[in-house]
Amino acid sequence: MKIRKAEPFKIKMVEPIRLISREEREKSLKEAGYNPFSLRSDDVYIDLLTDSGTGAMSDRQWAALMMGDESYAGSRSFYKLENVAQEITGYKYVIPTHQGRGAEQVVFPNLIKKPGTYVISNMHFDTTKAHVEIAGGRAINLIHDKAFNTTEYDDFKGDFDLEKLEKFIKNHKIEDIACIVVTITCNSAGGQPVSMKNIKGVKEIADKYGLKVFMDAARYAENAYFIKLREEGYKDKTIKEISREMFSYADGMMMSCKKDGLVNMGGLIAIKDDEELYTACRSTVVPLEGFPTYGGLSGRDMEALAVGLEEALEFEYLEYRMEQVKYLGDRLREAGVPIQYPTGGHAVFVDCKKICPHIPYHQFPAQAVCNAVYLEAGVRAVEIGSFLLGRDPDTGENLESPLELMRLTIPRRVYTNRHMDVVADAVIEVFKNADKLVGFEFDYEPKVLRHFTARLKPIK
Ligand SMILES: *Cc1c(COP(=O)(O)O)cnc(C)c1O
Repeated sequence: MKIRKAEPFKIKMVEPIRLISREEREKSLKEAGYNPFSLRSDDVYIDLLTDSGTGAMSDRQWAALMMGDESYAGSRSFYKLENVAQEITGYKYVIPTHQGRGAEQVVFPNLIKKPGTYVISNMHFDTTKAHVEIAGGRAINLIHDKAFNTTEYDDFKGDFDLEKLEKFIKNHKIEDIACIVVTITCNSAGGQPVSMKNIKGVKEIADKYGLKVFMDAARYAENAYFIKLREEGYKDKTIKEISREMFSYADGMMMSCKKDGLVNMGGLIAIKDDEELYTACRSTVVPLEGFPTYGGLSGRDMEALAVGLEEALEFEYLEYRMEQVKYLGDRLREAGVPIQYPTGGHAVFVDCKKICPHIPYHQFPAQAVCNAVYLEAGVRAVEIGSFLLGRDPDTGENLESPLELMRLTIPRRVYTNRHMDVVADAVIEVFKNADKLVGFEFDYEPKVLRHFTARLKPIK
């Protein structure tokens, strides 16, 4: 008999959650302007809005909090964190920041030396793109087209299109390119992994033209897990060995530790050996984040992060996490719900264009599905589609997103597969009655990043 594996932890502390009545859900969603971002978390039963900073810390991490050294400069907790980060990356220099975007606001101004310079990525995360642009740069995405085919299986849908990458570099002056950013896993493409072969390929091209490579490493451990499982030659390597090899093909990394750092707040910059760049970042971090041995984190946060970084490399943990995402994905697929396949590292993406062909993009089909799923079972998901994309700055027209997705994002070590069953049941029920869903129009629309605070109303 093959023994079924359960969550690799038992639960020592609990946080009660509550499903409010259908009537109350209708009332709270209406009050939230049909935008789940504006719901109070107390009105949410299972919260799959994001996996960012929403994970559960272990008993070891909680114990580590007590060991925090709150010295302003030269904190013992910093040296502990530095040591762990050096061990994982193989890099010499480590600077903590308050979260991922803290790392971005420090690094990009030091890489982008003149306005209009390009930063090339497989796919920029939204804050990464924002910080490239704030620093005067231009963000270019060169992910392989296979990422956009949601139904066809591929092991590594986060891969760069290496041909396009080299062509782009050849067609531009080297001094007009600031660096290449490899996002592992590729969040915006559905948490899809990048293969070691592809990362190595990026490095070879970068070396040929004298360009720097940076990792956007929020989910590097999840990426390493997929390499171990799917890429030839890695099955007997540890996650740590694979991580070190990935980092060896870059000159530095920025990381949101709210993901694979297994903490609720935190970020990191690590630089391989470029002393000049390190010195520049160390100067920039002081006014923006804090003194270089704390960078916006308290000593106890650095202690918990040092432990979290190590725990995220445990195979049993990663196996449980990826299997949970797959479990939810499989349940939906078995019921015929169209999803991005295979599932990636941190979320299941439901293809709402296929579910609601009767709702046009400018009435936000994926938002309609998210709202229906909340009404069905108090589950909060998030729209990744035309509602998020916004308007054309020149014409003011709603832009049409190539995909209309509902993201069911799974926090780390928080929910059991029983919770996933509730989510699956709700989504399947909504899917069965999707022809009755209606689209939405604006009641209030903010000028920038509208999806966070917009208010909507159903179209009668
Ligand atoms: C979350 C994330 C960021 C930004 O990190 P924050 O901690 O949210 O500031 C950057 N890049 C990627 C790939 C991310 O997933």
